[in-house]
Amino acid sequence: MSPTTPSGEARGPVATLRRIAFLMERQREETRRIEAFRNAARTILPLPEEEVRQRVEAGTLTELSGIGPSTAAVITDAANGVVPERLVELEKTAGPLATGGEELRARLRGDLHSHSDWSDGGSPLEEMAMTAMELGHDYLVLTDHSPRLRVANGLSPERLTRQLGVVEAVNEHLDGAFTLLKGIEVDILDDGSLDQTPEMLDRLDLRVASVHSKLKMDAAPMTKRMLGAVRNPHTNVLGHCTGRLVTGNRGTRGQSQFDAKAVFGACAEKGVAVEINSRPERRDPPTKLLELARDLGCLFSIDSDAHAPGQLDMLDFGAARATEAGIDPDRIVNTWERDRLLEWASARL
Ligand SMILES: [Zn+2]
Ligand SMILES: [Zn+2]
Repeated sequence: MSPTTPSGEARGPVATLRRIAFLMERQREETRRIEAFRNAARTILPLPEEEVRQRVEAGTLTELSGIGPSTAAVITDAANGVVPERLVELEKTAGPLATGGEELRARLRGDLHSHSDWSDGGSPLEEMAMTAMELGHDYLVLTDHSPRLRVANGLSPERLTRQLGVVEAVNEHLDGAFTLLKGIEVDILDDGSLDQTPEMLDRLDLRVASVHSKLKMDAAPMTKRMLGAVRNPHTNVLGHCTGRLVTGNRGTRGQSQFDAKAVFGACAEKGVAVEINSRPERRDPPTKLLELARDLGCLFSIDSDAHAPGQLDMLDFGAARATEAGIDPDRIVNTWERDRLLEWASARL
């Protein structure tokens, strides 16, 4: 399922279903609507090809749980070597999501911020890893939420420990060209401390720290809170720093107020990367702050903050913004090779 496969080429049923889901996700269609295609792919994946063929001929695909009339039609087309009309339409949207950042996007080797269904993402971590590989990434950092973020099913130390075992198992099945890295999006608590035990944070490859609560706190305590997180040696990336939402079905939200010069100055001093969050509803940091961070000498990471596999492709938006701001690619940590990235991420521990 390479995203670059020419649209005229027919794929097998599982690849066709996954391709449809991928293209819907990268356009931010609702996860609920996409789930049918992901579920159908999961249902037929373990079946022998012969059984799928027989069911196509007998018209009994819909007897399988997870397959309805529309996904059965897609499977039938694909099994018959036909590209379904639905996919033909979606392929028309398959080009870059943004213009102006193509060169930088091609230099990005991975993604430092992504979620699986262990917290509030929509897909298993294996599916996230597989799609990241298909996008040509060398690495993907899995950064599910921390315990206090209960609305997002944040991971307790026990669940995170279990997840790390699964990540190791996934990597054992890969040839080493791609690595799923151990990470977290850890909440920055009101007092600036991080919402996970230091022991667990030590076990991770990389840590994104973000504010998710009390976004309207006064500037002085918010600055202190963010400085606390940036100075914490566990923090590698300051996630979506203003918390703003500029569009989308969650509505809009203004940006948090804080002394950006102080916070970005501390990021530059400590080697913490300022995240360029690629999600179109975030566009965080806003342009003025992005330019301030650039002028203060900060490192950056261009992240998708994907909650579904197709959203991993949203890096296009962040790359376009970074290019527009004239940021030197070597200051963007996910243009770095994996080993350089890992060295940087563990340097302050
Ligand atoms: Zn977040
Ligand atoms: Zn996130």
